[in-house]
This record gives sequence, C-alpha cells and structure tokens, in this order.
Amino acid sequence: MITLSNDEDLRLAPEVAARLDRGHACIDAMDLPAALALAQEAMTLSPGAAEHCRAQFLAARCHYFQGEFDLGALLAREARDTAVVAGEVAVQALAQTLEARCLEQAGEIGAALDQLLLTHQLVEAAPGGHAEHRTAEQYVAVTLGVTHLSLGDLEAALSWCEQAVMLARPLRNQGLLAAAIDTMACVYSALAAQARSDQRPDQALDLERQAAAASAQAMDIARRAGNERYESSALLNLVESLTLTGDTARAFELLEDWQRRHPQASGHHRAHHLGSLGFLLRATGRLAESVTAFEQARDLATDEPHRVHLTEQLALALELCGRWEEALQRYKDFHQQQLQLSTERVRRSARVAAARPDIARERARARHLASTNAELQRRTDDLSRQALEDPLTGLPNRRHVDQWLHAPGHMAAVLMIDVDHFKQVNDRHSHALGDEVLRTLGRLLQQNLRPQDVVARLGGEEFVAIVPGDADDEAVRRTAERLRTAVEQHAWHGLAEGLAVTVSVGAASPHEATSQQALLDLADRRLYEAKAQGRNRAVTAG
Ligand code: GH3
Ligand code: MG
Ligand code: MG
Repeated sequence: MITLSNDEDLRLAPEVAARLDRGHACIDAMDLPAALALAQEAMTLSPGAAEHCRAQFLAARCHYFQGEFDLGALLAREARDTAVVAGEVAVQALAQTLEARCLEQAGEIGAALDQLLLTHQLVEAAPGGHAEHRTAEQYVAVTLGVTHLSLGDLEAALSWCEQAVMLARPLRNQGLLAAAIDTMACVYSALAAQARSDQRPDQALDLERQAAAASAQAMDIARRAGNERYESSALLNLVESLTLTGDTARAFELLEDWQRRHPQASGHHRAHHLGSLGFLLRATGRLAESVTAFEQARDLATDEPHRVHLTEQLALALELCGRWEEALQRYKDFHQQQLQLSTERVRRSARVAAARPDIARERARARHLASTNAELQRRTDDLSRQALEDPLTGLPNRRHVDQWLHAPGHMAAVLMIDVDHFKQVNDRHSHALGDEVLRTLGRLLQQNLRPQDVVARLGGEEFVAIVPGDADDEAVRRTAERLRTAVEQHAWHGLAEGLAVTVSVGAASPHEATSQQALLDLADRRLYEAKAQGRNRAVTAG
C-alpha cells in the first residue's frame, strides 16, 4: 500500500558522479589513497555547488577512515557549508553526521550527540522520498547508535540501531544495512558483557548468541554486497561472540575460510585477523600458539590503538603460559604505549575542539541565513510543507505516515478509511464538490478523535487514523464505529441537495502485529473486507 520511492531525480555532472561513486567504493575496499585521489579530481571537475559539496564530503570521509579526525571534521564542515548554500539538505545531513563521528573519535562525545540530534531534526523535517535523503537519515540513525554505545546508554543504542536497520532495508547500498546490523551486534555484546559482570550468566549467554546471530547476518549481507570493510568487521565480532558462547570450532572455521579467500589481504586486515585468532587460541587453551599469533598481529598492526591493544593481549597470553618475565616486559610496553596514545588523543581532541564552532552560534547563523535569503526561505517553506502536509485538506500526508512507519516501535491502533462510491459523488455533482466533501471529511474525522491521534490523507479518498496507546479490540471497534456513524449522520445535504456520504473502515489493534507496517497492511485488508461486505461498515479484530 505505502511504497517508498527511490527515484533519483538528481542530476549531477556525469564525470563527477562517476568519480564520487568510485571513490566511495574505494573506501569500502579500504583503498584510501585511491579514494582521496578521486575526491580531489571530483573537486577540480565540479561545475557547481551540488557536485562540490559531495566531493568535499568524499574527501572528509577518506580522512576520517585514515584516522585524521581533525582534518575530517574540518572538511566535513566545509562540505556542510557548501551544501547549505546549494540547498542540498541530504548532503548537509551527511556532512554534519560525519563531523559528529570525528568529534566522537576525538572524545568529544557530548558535542557529537548535540550535533547528531540537530541533524536528526533536520532530516525529519525534510522531504523523505529521495534515496540520498533516506541514506542520510539512515546514517544519522546508525551514528546515534554508535554514539550511545560509546556513552554506555545501551537501551538507546539498541533502539537507534533498530531504526537504522529498518531505514537501511529499502536502500540500494546494502553495505549500510550490514553496518547497522553489525553495530546492533556490538550493542548485544555490550549488553552480554554487562550481564556477565552482574553475575547473570544465562542472560549473558542468550545475549551473546543474539550478538553472534546479528554478526553472522551482517557478514553475509556485506559479502553479498561486496563490501570487504564491513564483512571483515562483522567477521571479527562474530568470532569473538562464538568464542564467548563456546562455539569455537565454528570460529576457527570462519577464520580459516577468510584466510583462504583473502590470500592478498592488507597488513591492516591481517593484523585484525591474527588478533582474533590469538584471542580464540588463548580461549581454547592453545597458549603458545596464541602468543605467536599476537606477536605476528602486533608486528603487522597499522594503527597505534590496535598495536597497544595487541600488546596487552600478548602480555596476558604470556602470563597464562607462565612466561612471567616476558609478560612483565610486555605489560611495561603496554603502559608506555598507552601513555603516549592518551597524550596523542588529548592533542587531537584539542585540535578538533578548536576547529569546532560553537553550536549556539551555528544555530543563530542558520536562522540568519534563512531569514536574509528569501529564496532559500521560500524553498525551505515549500519543502517542509510538501514534506508533511496534504494541500487539499491540510491534514498530514502519506510522507508523515511513512515517517511513522519508520519510527522505532510506537504502539498504536490503525484505522483505514475509504469513502464509499466516491466516484459517483464526483460524477453526480462536481469534482469541486468532491473536494469539499474530502475537506469536510478530514475535519469530521479529526473532531471525532483525540488531539494526540493522527488523521492523514493517504491519497484520493483514502484516509488513515493512527491512534497511539494500547487500546484493546473493543476500544478499537468503538472508535471505528464512532468514525463511521459520524460520517453517516453528518448533514451532507448542507453541501448539496440529496448528497449522502458513507465510509468503510478497516482497523487493526496494536497487539495484533509487531510492526507498524504489518498493522497498516492488516487494516488495509480489513478495509477491503468491509467493501466486499457491502460498504458503510467497519471490520475490526475478532
Ligand atoms: P469504493 O466504494 O469501492 O471505494 O468506490 P469509489 O468510487 O470510492 O472508489 P474508486 O477508487 O473507484 O474511485 C475513487 C474516486 O476518487 C476516483 C477519483 O476521481 C476520485 N478522487 C481521487 N482524488 C480526488 C480528489 O482529490 N478530489 C476529488 N474530487 N476526487 C478525487
Ligand atoms: Mg472509495
Ligand atoms: Mg479508494
């Protein structure tokens, strides 16, 4: 019934568009130098701001993945500024989200969260049909998941991840779905770790199994999408979860399979795999082999935080082997390296913070820009009206319903309402009168519902009422009947002599399905039953 449009009505200079696509694909394959070269070419070739902001965003992403968070934040902000001037809301949202990721990596988690919540408001208010817009919305949601995970607010992290998964499903880039599910797996693992430390071993095991299932799913999706970066990340999470649930045979198999399929893997990837292998060998009591794996991994590690982590793991393996002196030496190395790392972190964080403009000043600037730029103002107004309002009745439109469908689990009853034989109203009277009937009907429905209920016009002579709360079947039946009789008993002859209007209603109660989409589909099926049974009636549960 409700279909999401993924239409690309975007027109970018083709030579730039091709480089942007290839650049993002290079990032997925972890070929960052190639991606950066493509970003620079795209910037040089950009004929206008629409291309330029996207090229700047690609460059910012490259620096982010290179671990250069100060540069990444700077370029992301430039991309954002260009996008604002060009009226490119989706790119603005993508760039702001990337900036928040850089802030988070530099330890500025509070500022990152502020920025993400502002960006979430931005994408929620903008029209939702465009694929790039949906990608931005998904990227904000998954980043909010990651940020809440770093904050230790696991419940919020889980709910954002669920939303990110839902938003990613209809998108063409399945790598995004893999990333969302993989992040969800990390949240489950964190919940499992919490349960373990609270001495709830059964719950911990359940949660770790959920984590394993999610990682496995993410790995498959990433593999099918050809996204090596997410495949690898999901595989490592999976190996760790399998180790903790005792399914070590499967974990070994996965690591061997990966090695077989990636004989030419980069040092970065090999270091991560050897690290996981070391973890697995140590957990299964093969301590000497575990020491070797950690040593090899440490020598191959390409970034400092990973090397420091591996040094600690190596020290622990040596200690378990009874090689005390070597263990002590590695622990000393570890503390030394960690000290350097945190000094470097503080320096980075200071650089990112210095480059970050004050959020309140930015808000004021955005308002100023909007009020002095009449064209921008008009466009923003048009877009937000188109976005959520039906022009004929002034009711929320189907985009609004789309948003509700994608919001994380809100309990509600759903009532689908369709005018009976509306074609005859148009035919016997006039199209203009038909329009008046629709406006009156919109008001009637609203008057017969509570202020917190939503009536939206889905299109034509079809409406939907979303009634939040956990109403039981009987309450839903009464609501449906109230709406039906209100329409039947309205003094329609005031609009035109002999005019009578009735509606058919199909309703679903909140407990009947676990997703909003399933509730809507059920209500829709019941509406057709009501039509088939003779119209001017309500079909509800039971
Ligand atoms: P049923 O009882 O099976 O629902 O019959 P129906 O005639 O209501 O349904 P059908 O879908 O055949 O016709 C719907 C009509 O609604 C056809 C179209 O001309 C009319 N319609 C759709 N949008 C508008 C509108 O915005 N204004 C007016 N006046 N008519 C509209
Ligand atoms: Mg009809
Ligand atoms: Mg209809």
